[in-house]
Amino acid sequence: MAEETIFSKIIRREIPSDIVYQDDVLTAFRDVNPQAPTHILIVPNHVIPTVSDVTADDEMVLGKIFTVAAKLAEQEGIAAGGYRLIVNCGADAGQEVYHLHVHLLGGRPLGPMLHRSG
Ligand code: AMP
Repeated sequence: MAEETIFSKIIRREIPSDIVYQDDVLTAFRDVNPQAPTHILIVPNHVIPTVSDVTADDEMVLGKIFTVAAKLAEQEGIAAGGYRLIVNCGADAGQEVYHLHVHLLGGRPLGPMLHRSG
């Protein structure tokens, strides 16, 4: 059984969070430290630590994340202007919370995907 993170408490509504969508398989809530006018995290309700832990059983919920992301982008008024989905996997990607999540970012021009270094 994968170890729970703070996201499980958010999903179970044990700690306060700005939940914008929830169903039986996934939850979406606003990032506490937003990097853009819209910054929402979309997470499976069950713990999958990283993309590397994904199995075939997760395909339905992971696919649904895209349907919900598109719906939320419409609701947020950022669909026409464009938006970005990001998934960090592991240390080199800077993953902080080991409960797989998709960042939905938009509401301003987001610039190049990666900062140039060197
Ligand atoms: P990552 O680096 O991809 O693991 O992103 C983790 C994200 O979770 C960061 O953008 C954090 O700001 C966000 N985060 C951490 N704790 C909370 C929380 N309690 N509520 C909402 N977002 C959170």
